[in-house]
Amino acid sequence: MNERYETTLSLHIDGEWIGTGDRQTHDVVNPATGDVLGVLPMATADDLDRALDASARGYRIWRAKTADERGAVLTIAARLLRERADRIATIATLEQGKPFAEAKGELAYTAALIDWYAAEAKRVYGRVLQRPAGSRSVVVKEPVGPAVAFCPWNFPILNPARKIAPALAAGCSMIVKPPEEAPGSAIEVVRCFIDAGLPNGVLGMVFGVPDTVSRHLISSPIIRKISFTGSVPVGKHLMKLAADGMKRTTMELGGHSPVLIFDDCDFEKTVPMLAAAKFRNAGQVCVSPTRFYVQEGIYERFAKAFVERVDKINLGSGMDAATNMGPLANPRRPDAIEAMVADATKAGARLATGGERSGGDGFFYRPTVLLDVPLEARIMNDEPFGPVAMMRPFKTLDDAVEQANRLPYGLAAYCFTENGRRQLLLGDAIESGMIGINTVGMSAVDAPFGGVKDSGHGSEDGPEGLDVFLVTKAIHQA
Ligand code: NAD
Repeated sequence: MNERYETTLSLHIDGEWIGTGDRQTHDVVNPATGDVLGVLPMATADDLDRALDASARGYRIWRAKTADERGAVLTIAARLLRERADRIATIATLEQGKPFAEAKGELAYTAALIDWYAAEAKRVYGRVLQRPAGSRSVVVKEPVGPAVAFCPWNFPILNPARKIAPALAAGCSMIVKPPEEAPGSAIEVVRCFIDAGLPNGVLGMVFGVPDTVSRHLISSPIIRKISFTGSVPVGKHLMKLAADGMKRTTMELGGHSPVLIFDDCDFEKTVPMLAAAKFRNAGQVCVSPTRFYVQEGIYERFAKAFVERVDKINLGSGMDAATNMGPLANPRRPDAIEAMVADATKAGARLATGGERSGGDGFFYRPTVLLDVPLEARIMNDEPFGPVAMMRPFKTLDDAVEQANRLPYGLAAYCFTENGRRQLLLGDAIESGMIGINTVGMSAVDAPFGGVKDSGHGSEDGPEGLDVFLVTKAIHQA
């Protein structure tokens, strides 16, 4: 396998790929080794202004295209992404740490999503209202205008495309700021869209100090829409900036997913499914199963079987085919997890496995299971965003629902039971944007992905993901 970080770290403004020059730079680090992979240029204020002007011009060109024309460009971008899959997935693994097979899976989903939006672009409909002869009222959907997108590092291929594809399908231009810590795979995703034939200015890409870049772009009158994926505090901060310009927002924020495991679950299927899902991407997933509430009759048996599975996980470099879990993405994550696990054990949690760092200069942390975790432990309240499963027993369905809804988060929830009546009640009672019943599959190109409560608003994927880039206009003719 070619393990080279084959990309040119650059900005993309008004059709031009821009290298470091005399700009400030950011070192991109391989989390498995601590080695520097490359040097990323940081945009100057002048770069950001040029990106904004280009976006305004790009918008005028792009919104005038037909849905067929826009869809055709997206279709080519999806094809290019598939053709470049191995190289782009390698870049993602090297800069973010996830196993190569996971990066390939992320890329395949991303290409399918872009294809889906290529077709969905053609399904933007309006309404004709009933009016007397000689007059007419119609409701039309229009692109909201130039948009900005801020993407995190956990899915460096998918996250930018999840914003770019529906924005372009709707007829918006977009400036994207992918994560500085894992920029190369996002750059290659943007390159697929550019190589597919986008006119200059329709899609720009900048990097920089996140707070400086987001303040600059959001305060510009050119920008009409903000799409952010990241933590709840940053999401709230960006919404305040957006409010000054009355700009629309999509906020895909953190989660703290409850997993309710009832004593009638299909035990043999549930244990391996959840052990794999919990430690995918080292738990750095907003919908990661996190708080495991297990009905008391099977609690000890479930915990034992789960820990046995977890102890078989191979921790290592994502480029090694035997690896099931890579390093955490950056040095902040093992620090944060270490502090949360120490706090939980101090509060009385039992450490069943893991609970320590592992491996040389990389940012490795062993898959960890904590049992009987007190509700007041910090990890039961703040999103761990790492490889830790916390377990507690529960008695009744009402107890389980109360626990599931206890936190301000409301992104994803999981329930495991073979009882149909109970499945129905849980589906209704849990305050969450997404619920998996006997499944951990949350992402589907045609289904909305998003949260309620502090986990945000405005879905991605599916028709809902396109709708957030459209506005409605009523036109009355007499
Ligand atoms: P963080 O809050 O500092 O950063 C999260 C992301 O937001 C990063 O990509 C960062 O570049 C970006 N960001 C931060 N400040 C910003 C600003 N002012 N303007 C624009 N973008 C900004 O946290 P972190 O240590 O990088 O990640 C850990 C936390 O982030 C987790 O606890 C988790 O809640 C959250 N997170 C969520 C997701 C998700 O999919 N919802 C993904 C990654 C991180």
